[in-house]
Amino acid sequence: MTIELPKLPYEHNALEPIISQKTIEFHYGKHHQAYVNNLNNLIKGTDLEKKDLVEIIKTSEGGVFNNAAQVWNHTFYFYQFIPGGKGQPSEDFLNAIEKQWGSLEDFKKEFNTASATLFGSGWAWLVKNKEGKLEITKESNAGTPLTKGLRPILTFDVWEHAYYIDYQNRRPDYLNALWSIINWDEINKRFAE
Ligand code: MN
Repeated sequence: MTIELPKLPYEHNALEPIISQKTIEFHYGKHHQAYVNNLNNLIKGTDLEKKDLVEIIKTSEGGVFNNAAQVWNHTFYFYQFIPGGKGQPSEDFLNAIEKQWGSLEDFKKEFNTASATLFGSGWAWLVKNKEGKLEITKESNAGTPLTKGLRPILTFDVWEHAYYIDYQNRRPDYLNALWSIINWDEINKRFAE
């Protein structure tokens, strides 16, 4: 099937000033779109054309994997935001966070540290492991928990293209700011799945 760029659930200027319209135009409009286009070109005329995106990610490597995983990771990233932020962690989710990190604030600190210390380009992830326990993981480049039997719940993109227009080299400022546009209703749904 042809992989499509999903439409964002908010206007391109709606996350300002946390994520500017210009960043959305480049990060979503150019980078995310390019991964979609590259993937469609790579799978054209191959058996992969019949597979869905997650199947492609789980069964490919090299350029196909990189572009497929980047399509999925970016959709997952963009869909966790909402203008002004919304809701809070559900009771079950908060209990799991407190069990692992003591408090929501301590979890955010740990997640920011993981994101800030990821060397080069990649993604920080909150995941649920096979035992149902929460973990923070770091992935370089297009890395995704989908290939490791982990259930992704939340992710921060720390490729420079995600923040350089708005924050230049101040990656920690970008990370701190993202918490104010999190749609916890969406995150709770991912945790409960
Ligand atoms: Mn990105």
